[in-house]
This record gives sequence, structure tokens and C-alpha cells, in this order.
Amino acid sequence: MEVHFSPHGGCTDAIVGELGRSERSILVQAYSFTSAPIAEALRSAHQRGVEVAVVLDKSQETEKYSSADFLLHAGIPTQIDRRHAIAHNKVMILDGRTVITGSFNFTKSAEESNAENLLIIRDPAIADLYTQNWMLHAAHSEPYQGKKSSDSGDRGSPGKKNKASSRR
Ligand SMILES: [Zn+2]
Repeated sequence: MEVHFSPHGGCTDAIVGELGRSERSILVQAYSFTSAPIAEALRSAHQRGVEVAVVLDKSQETEKYSSADFLLHAGIPTQIDRRHAIAHNKVMILDGRTVITGSFNFTKSAEESNAENLLIIRDPAIADLYTQNWMLHAAHSEPYQGKKSSDSGDRGSPGKKNKASSRR
């Protein structure tokens, strides 16, 4: 077991290091994911043949700095979990052996500005429980389709709004 604290406690470096050593699989659940170095580490793992899959909170469809598009363009299966008020997990499961979790979101502000904690748990039995939970959420998630504008089209137009209300 390994523990890191932020700000500036090496959480991002620790995660990037673990991802770099993964050999087989990386499962990710993230609430907010904007960290460029972590996204890059996932892409390079994917490129060397590690099976990578990501489930994100629905906020990441509109979050301006979300890494979702980067992951999508890297060819990493990326899904959105809409089933919850917020999908607040911050979890990575590596090779079915290691779990990375804690309050630490995969973001720049978690690294640089916030008080956060991160645990790296090397225990296949714990990893198995987290994998089962990841599967449960992945099963009711939907493929990420690319970024949505936060003010989606029609809502601002009075004409369309009238039309919509007259229909009721
Ligand atoms: Zn879920």
C-alpha cells in the first residue's frame, strides 16, 4: 500500500508511473478527468497493447477541459455513466492487481491546488471487488459521442421555445 497527498505530493507522478508499468489492462472510473499527463499515459499504454477502458461522469460531456475527446481520438473505449446524480468514483484498476483510488480527481487542480489523498492498493482481492463494481457501471453506461455544447442549440431561441410550449 502506498499513500500520496496533494497539493504537490506526487499523486499525478505516482499514477503516471503505475500506468507506465501496467502490462495487461487498465479500467478507469472518473468524475472529472482533465489531467493531460494522465490522459497521455493512458494513450501510451493503449498504444503498447494494454486494454484500456474508461467510464466517465456525464459532466465530462460538457466540461470544457475534459480529456474525454482526447481519449476518444486515441481509440480508447470511453463511456458515460448517466445513472447517478454524480458518478463520483475516482478509480483505476491495473492488471487486476492494483487499485488506485482516493479523493484525487484526475485533474490539474487536484494536483496543484486541492487537498486530496490517493491510495495505491496492491491486492488482487480488493482489485477484484473494484473490477466487479467497474463492470456494473460500465454495463449501464453509454459510449461517449464527443463533446456537447453546454448551451445546446434551440434553448436560446424564443421562436422555438414558443413552438415547444404551444405543443403542450
Ligand atoms: Zn453507474
